[in-house]
Order: sequence, then structure tokens, then C-alpha cells
Amino acid sequence: MSYGVVWFKRDLRLHDHAALTAASIDGRLLCLYIIEPDLWRQADASSQHYHFMLECLQDLSDSLAHRGGKLLVRIGEPVAVLEQLHRAAPFTALYSHEETGNGFTFERDKAVARWCLRRGVVWREYPQTGVIRRLTNRDGWAARWESFVAQPCLPAPSLSGIPLPQPSQTWPTAEELGVFPFNPPARQLGGRRRAIAVLRDFLEQRSAQYRGGISSPLSAPTACSRLSPYLAAGCLSLREIVQATRRQMARLPKENTRQRKGLQAFISRLHWHCHFMQKLESEPEIEWRNMHRGYDGLRENEHNEAQLAALMAGRTGWPLVDACVAMLNHTGWLNFRMRAMLVSVAAYPLWLHWRPVGLWLARAFLDYEPGIHWSQLQMQSGTTGINATRVYNPVKQAMDHDPQGRFVRRWLPALRQVPDVWLFEPWKMPDELRQRYGLDQAGWPAKPPVELESATRAAKQRLHGLRKQPAVRAGKAAVVNRHGSRQAVPAARRGNAATAFQQQLGLPLADD
Ligand SMILES: Cc1cc2nc3c(=O)[nH]c(=O)nc-3n(C[C@H](O)[C@H](O)[C@H](O)COP(=O)(O)OP(=O)(O)OC[C@H]3O[C@@H](n4cnc5c(N)ncnc54)[C@H](O)[C@@H]3O)c2cc1C
Repeated sequence: MSYGVVWFKRDLRLHDHAALTAASIDGRLLCLYIIEPDLWRQADASSQHYHFMLECLQDLSDSLAHRGGKLLVRIGEPVAVLEQLHRAAPFTALYSHEETGNGFTFERDKAVARWCLRRGVVWREYPQTGVIRRLTNRDGWAARWESFVAQPCLPAPSLSGIPLPQPSQTWPTAEELGVFPFNPPARQLGGRRRAIAVLRDFLEQRSAQYRGGISSPLSAPTACSRLSPYLAAGCLSLREIVQATRRQMARLPKENTRQRKGLQAFISRLHWHCHFMQKLESEPEIEWRNMHRGYDGLRENEHNEAQLAALMAGRTGWPLVDACVAMLNHTGWLNFRMRAMLVSVAAYPLWLHWRPVGLWLARAFLDYEPGIHWSQLQMQSGTTGINATRVYNPVKQAMDHDPQGRFVRRWLPALRQVPDVWLFEPWKMPDELRQRYGLDQAGWPAKPPVELESATRAAKQRLHGLRKQPAVRAGKAAVVNRHGSRQAVPAARRGNAATAFQQQLGLPLADD
């Protein structure tokens, strides 16, 4: 008797799972997850992602068992795994969500599509976010996003499985697979149950701090939703988060405008989630190639390995930068503004290409989502050709968002004794004070790798010089057409030149 295979990928849940629901309506089904050794050995993966995924898988497996179902876990290359299953018991349809992943998963999916064609298996794929496949341009995109998130969420279906054709294989360890070892001690833990608890806590309590709380690295860890790794692994659907948020907004007392506005700002970010992912979906090459080709050659040939190493080690000598790296290494998370600042420091004063910086951060961010990540890397590095230049000065950011130095002192024990006046620019301290506060003994860098102001000025000049060239200016319209948002930005809410520029181009303000 025929059956369908539901292939779980980055959609590790039973609720609002279009592929699972469709398969359950069509008849008997087999739930499959494939651990792909080659995927986990890619340069953008690290062991924290693997451990998080296993936690989600355990939770999914428990939920299935609770409903009388079973999850088959196989290890190998998907075409080989599907072929083996098909030989043992031929199936007629494969069900999954569309995935906007990295270049590896894109090629793998193309190979699976060819295999399905050869075997006469129908592959039914369903969107799980507002990202639209085979989109030709961005006209009407925002309205389609709204109609996607407004559709009713699908309940977890009742399952009539087939007996597993083969037993599940034992889940290999990250070491056995050869995954890049990076597993921060205080990272978030995976699984839908944890995701629901984080969502509830945010909607009911923490969202009251969202407005005004998400920029400082001190308040952001609790003011932000912290839902990103659960979205990346698909423990929650984007739609159920949007709908739960709207329900919570409706429940709030009328006078609670602060929390309501916070939740509205949060929904805007869920919109950006798909807006940015759409860029990679529409142009997968932006994972490794400049979004605007006119910027090719800008930084490629001047890569400074020692400066990248200092940044990755959190030893630049700019306290806020190094404190952020320390927090990232401990938690696997940073708020938007601090991520943007790290990339800005890499791209401007250090003049590093976004690709190696992006690979490092992809491994370091537990919530690594290729579509958001590579689009943001390019935007913060000035290679999209359509966004205003964003340069974050790490000394000014420290003064604005950590005025008492609590964040810096917390993450950098070497600077704990340093008085406020020197804290954000310790290289300006006289030698005897460096001695007194133990900076040399702690191995604190004598000075940053470059002089901040002059290096940043030179970098901006080079970028703007290129931007003014007629060929580069001419190339902008095509990028706007392909990737730019068509959303109107209310003028009254925009103040400075950068935002006016964004508005002129009809782009959303992807900033906090
Ligand atoms: C260089 C750089 C790289 C980034 N890489 C990633 C990444 O790999 N994965 C990722 O999820 N986010 C990424 N972001 C966006 C943002 O920093 C994170 O989504 C956010 O910090 C996650 O924490 P949160 O869920 O508590 O955020 P919240 O503020 O609570 O936001 C809720 C959700 O909205 C989405 N979101 C928030 N901000 C943005 C944004 N600026 N652009 C697009 N979507 C957004 C995310 O899905 C997030 O989970 C990156 C930002 C920068 C500057």
C-alpha cells in the first residue's frame, strides 16, 4: 500500500506544519529526518547548531511518540537515504517545506528533485515563511506576506504511520561527524517546549521592555524575544508567532501603549525576517558574491589575516568590540546593534571582506539563518549598493549603550579596575596606569590594530568614491528592483539623512 514520506528539515515541529498536514490528509506517512554529515561539515556550521538540532529532534520525536507516531532518523546523503527507503518499500510522494538555505542545501535539493523525477515520486513542497519561491520582483510582496501570516495555523494532525521499514540509526556525536567545535556554555537549548516557554514569557512579560531595551547589550538579552534560534530550526512557525503576538496585543489594556508599541515593533522584525530571507531565495549567489557587482574587488585583495584573527579572538583592544565577542562566545547570541557594530568594525576600520567575517559569525550565532545573515553582512559592509552606509563607532556605541561600563567590565575582567575615564579608550592611558591596573600582565593589547578615526574615514572615502562611479550608480536600479522593499515609510517617523535616503529608495529601516 502506498505511503508518503515527510522529510523534516529546519521545521522541527508538528504544529502549523503544512507538509505534515498534507501528507496526513493524503494517507499513510513516514516521518523522516536525515542527519547529513556533509552538511554539518560545511564552513558555516558549528557544534552548537548540531546540539541544538538534536535537542529539537528529541522533542519532535517525543511529540510524535505521544501521538502514536515515530520518527525515522537516518544518517547519510539524502538521495542515497531516499533510494534505500524507496527500494525497501516504494513511496509515491515526498513532502517537505521549501528551504531557503545555504549553497549546499540548494544543490542537495536540486539532486533530490532529480531523484524524484527518476523514481516517479512527486515532491510536494510548501512555504513555511513569507518567502516566495520563483519571485520575479518585489511588487506586492508585503501584501502577500500579510496574507500568508493571516491564514489559520494548522493544528498538529492525527497520524497514521507505516511501520518503520528500518530502525532509526544512533545519532552520531558532533565529534564523530567532524563538526566545527564551538558550543557556548550558556547558549539557549532547543526544542518546541522551550520555544513555547520563551514565546509566552516574551509576550506576557519581557515585551514591555522591547521598546528602548533592544539596543543596549545590557538590556537586550531579556528585552529581545530570543526566539531567533527557534525560528531558524522551525520549532515554532513564523505565522503562529505573528498570530500569538496579535492576540496578546488585543488583550493588553488600552493604556498599555508601551508594550503594544513594542509588540508592533517586534512584528515589523518578523516581517524583516522574511524580507531578508527573500533576498537569498531570489539570488542564492549573495552568499558569496556582492549583491551589487560594482563593488567586486573592493576588499577582496586586501584581506588582513592578523586583523581578522584579533577580531575573532576578541583581542582588538576596542573594549566594546572585545566584550561583544566574549559574550558571543559564552552565549551564542548578540543583539542586532552589537552584531551590526562588529561587522561595521570589520568592514570599515579593519577593511575586511564580509565573507570570512560572515563565516565566523555564522558559526558563532546559534540562530544562523543564511538568508538574514548574508543579506545583513552585505548591508553592514556596504556592498548591496542600495543601503545607506552604516558605520558604528565602537567608542561612541559604548558611551551610548554602556555609559557606566557595566557590560565591558562584566565581559572583560582585565579592564575591571580601569576607571571610567579610560575604560572605552584604554590605549590612551599613560604607561604607569596600564601597569597599575594590570593591563600588561593580563596581556591586554597595547593599542588597537588601526587608528579608528583615520582608518574609518579612509574606508568611507573608498566606498563612496566607488559609489559615485557612473557604472556603479547605473547598477543600483536593478538591485532595488530585485531586492528593495516597496513598503512606504511614513516620513514623520524618519529624521536623519540616512533614513531619508532609505525612504527615497523605498527601503524599510532594518535597524533598531
Ligand atoms: C551581521 C548580522 C547578522 C545577522 N544574522 C542573523 C542570523 O543569522 N539569524 C537571525 O535570525 N538574525 C540575524 N540577524 C538579525 C538580528 O540581529 C537577530 O535576528 C536578532 O538579534 C535575534 O534576536 P531576537 O530573536 O531576540 O530578536 P528580536 O528583536 O526579538 O526579533 C524577532 C525576530 O525578528 C527577526 N529579526 C530581528 N531583527 C532582524 C533584522 N534586523 N533583520 C532580519 N530579521 C530580523 C528575527 O527572526 C528575530 O528572531 C543578523 C543581524 C546582523 C546585523
